[in-house]
Amino acid sequence: MRHIDTLVIGAGQAGLAMSHCLSQRGVAHVVLERGEVANSWATERWDSLRLLTPNWQSRLPGYAYEGDDPDGFMSMTDVVSYLRGYAAQGTMPIESRTRVLSVIAEGQGYRVSTNRGDWLCRNVVMANGACAVASTPKMAAALPADLAQVTLLAYRAPRQLRKGGVLVVGASASGVQIASELAQAGHVVTISAGHHIRMPRNYRGRDIQWWMDRSGVQDQGIGDVDNITRARSVPSLQLVGDANIPLMDFNHLQGLGCTIAGRLAAVRDGVALFSGGLANACALSDLKMRRLLRSFDAFAQETGVAGLSPPEHICATALPQRPDLSLDLTSGAIRTVVWATGFRPDFSWLKMPVFDRKGQLLHDEGRVADGLYVLGQPFLRKRKSALIDGVGDDAIILSDQIARRSHQMVA
Ligand SMILES: Cc1cc2nc3c(=O)[nH]c(=O)nc-3n(C[C@H](O)[C@H](O)[C@H](O)COP(=O)(O)OP(=O)(O)OC[C@H]3O[C@@H](n4cnc5c(N)ncnc54)[C@H](O)[C@@H]3O)c2cc1C
Repeated sequence: MRHIDTLVIGAGQAGLAMSHCLSQRGVAHVVLERGEVANSWATERWDSLRLLTPNWQSRLPGYAYEGDDPDGFMSMTDVVSYLRGYAAQGTMPIESRTRVLSVIAEGQGYRVSTNRGDWLCRNVVMANGACAVASTPKMAAALPADLAQVTLLAYRAPRQLRKGGVLVVGASASGVQIASELAQAGHVVTISAGHHIRMPRNYRGRDIQWWMDRSGVQDQGIGDVDNITRARSVPSLQLVGDANIPLMDFNHLQGLGCTIAGRLAAVRDGVALFSGGLANACALSDLKMRRLLRSFDAFAQETGVAGLSPPEHICATALPQRPDLSLDLTSGAIRTVVWATGFRPDFSWLKMPVFDRKGQLLHDEGRVADGLYVLGQPFLRKRKSALIDGVGDDAIILSDQIARRSHQMVA
């Protein structure tokens, strides 16, 4: 049995930011990581992925991007070196290849069991990622047995798929990016779209993330939104980290030969049945995009931002008159289904009554219980909480709480 003040679970950006902040506050700690630093970026993302946030926005406590391409977008290799550079800069106390198997309350702290032995500690910070498990709907079990099914955690590149048609389910950033590269690799692609948010990469000569950052959208806190549950599940914007693709939207995908279908509602007798609400979903998406862009125009006018090009009008999503409502999955035309239906965290090893009826972790801006904290989850405290650029603010606040608690317990 080993003893330490604080254990941090996970060495992604959240765990590293927390380690940096704890060191600054003199809190003895160890980061436990089941793989190596930046494990998720190194092992669980597809090959062509680039960050959706520009390089200048890779800002962590005490560490920022310092390359010569602030407006570029990091590849996965770049992100891994960027984060490993952070870990090395602070010589952070990281124990890699150490998987946490359970956390239980014990005395005034916690017992943490790992594949390399047990620890006792006062505080635990769960920085184990919001995107640990690929979410797939129950209807995946109803697909014909000879169809290949690939999740977002398993997808790497078009070459891994069988020749032939692909149904991509989900049309947020992941779904549209994967549909696009599959179509370009020669697959016949249908993409099924429910709620999604269309967004241009650039607006009035500035990257969309610049607008989100400067206008304060990313800094919105829990008190700034009507419904925090809804805000925590907002889908990622239809974007790609490539300034040469102005809109990674359905107009772009149809130009590549993709068919757009409504939300996958059911699979019955080998037939995929799509909702008839595609036109409405696209109209709503166009509306939300325009509303956000208008708010940026208002911000620019109020604050007198100089050097912008004039407000732009983005044409509506063009759809076929009668989108397909069904797709026969038994005919052989479709060989693979890609589930681009999002992610969820994994707290299966947390043996404490801290979940709601739906199994969601309960927390108050990151504080789960005395000495138990979570970091890096969507809208933990702010809209940007799960982003590289957002986790630092939360780490500062939670590390202050941890330092206070530890000092009180010692006194
Ligand atoms: C496809 C995709 C694209 C994204 N693009 C962007 C972007 O452009 N910009 C941006 O800012 N954000 C982006 N994000 C969001 C976010 O930055 C990432 O999800 C990021 O990986 C979150 O960092 P994290 O440290 O919270 O979690 P992770 O990076 O997932 O780190 C968690 C760590 O915990 C470890 N771990 C998990 N369970 C255990 C255990 N039981 N024991 C020990 N270790 C464990 C994992 O191995 C991992 O290393 C993207 C996310 C996804 C999925």
